[in-house]
Amino acid sequence: MPGPHAGGADLRSEFKTIGVIGAGQMGGGIAQVAAQAGAQVVLVDMSVEHAERGKAKVAAGLAKLVERGKLSADGCEALLARIQPAGTLGDLARADYIVEASTEDQTLKQRLFRQVDEVARPGAILASNTSSISITLLGAATRRPDKVIGLHFMNPVPQMKLVEVIRGLATDDATFDATMGLARRLGKDPVTCRDIPGFIVNRILLPSINEGIYALYEGLGTAEDIDHAAKLGLNHPMGPLELADLIGLDTCLAILEVMHRELGEDKYRPCPLLRQYVAAGWLGRKTGRGFYRY
Ligand code: NAD
Repeated sequence: MPGPHAGGADLRSEFKTIGVIGAGQMGGGIAQVAAQAGAQVVLVDMSVEHAERGKAKVAAGLAKLVERGKLSADGCEALLARIQPAGTLGDLARADYIVEASTEDQTLKQRLFRQVDEVARPGAILASNTSSISITLLGAATRRPDKVIGLHFMNPVPQMKLVEVIRGLATDDATFDATMGLARRLGKDPVTCRDIPGFIVNRILLPSINEGIYALYEGLGTAEDIDHAAKLGLNHPMGPLELADLIGLDTCLAILEVMHRELGEDKYRPCPLLRQYVAAGWLGRKTGRGFYRY
């Protein structure tokens, strides 16, 4: 595992403290890569207990790296010591750069952006890890739309090289440049993208996952058959259903709903089976059951 200096200059010189809102699978991963790059991280969730649970998942992932000899026990301890779990947005007052990675819900994110704008120090950049929601809209919820930007990591964050950087209508050049620099210092390979629902990756990926779910809904094959066919026939590393389980079926549905509503095309209409699974609370890996059982 790369040390604090991997991927360029030490982060500490520029963004000493990174705030992360949402300690789920993405927020935990973002906290991990930021701490790995040398930053202090404030990891906020709905309560400090939620944030601690998120940090515990990061610790469990790192423990496996220690077991496999890819990270030293001391390195692991030092990295974890840089992640501070917190239960209120007020704890973000000392952050230089804040990445929001809460649940994919427009109303929630607009509220969080409005509130974080009130507590964040002037000049702090507010980024969103949203998969589909308009960055321009989130910027408009604040008094600093020039300092709001999309920074869309891929899952799992520590392993995936790509991030999409999305400028809202009002995002200024300094915010864009600082974000590109931050992405590189986190060891990522950024691609810039216009602020259109789904951006690049999900614009391509979600219709394909949705089609995989339709294939199951229409009885073309079992979940195993569909994933096996996609892996062998399309040379994809994961099939659409196992990937949907990894992303979270609630997140897949939320992204498709935004794309369907905002782009107005039937090709983004979420499969009824996806709605049913989400209604049942079968959200994939994170709840132990989705198209597969975990
Ligand atoms: P998740 O369900 O694992 O985590 C969401 C977290 O947000 C939870 O810990 C929840 O408690 C927290 N949260 C909810 N309301 C909050 C509030 N008011 N204040 C603070 N925290 C709050 O979801 P995730 O998969 O980590 O996704 C998070 C974001 O990242 C979403 O916008 C999603 O679209 C995006 N994203 C997800 C993936 C993926 O593969 N899952 C990939 C890229 C981007």
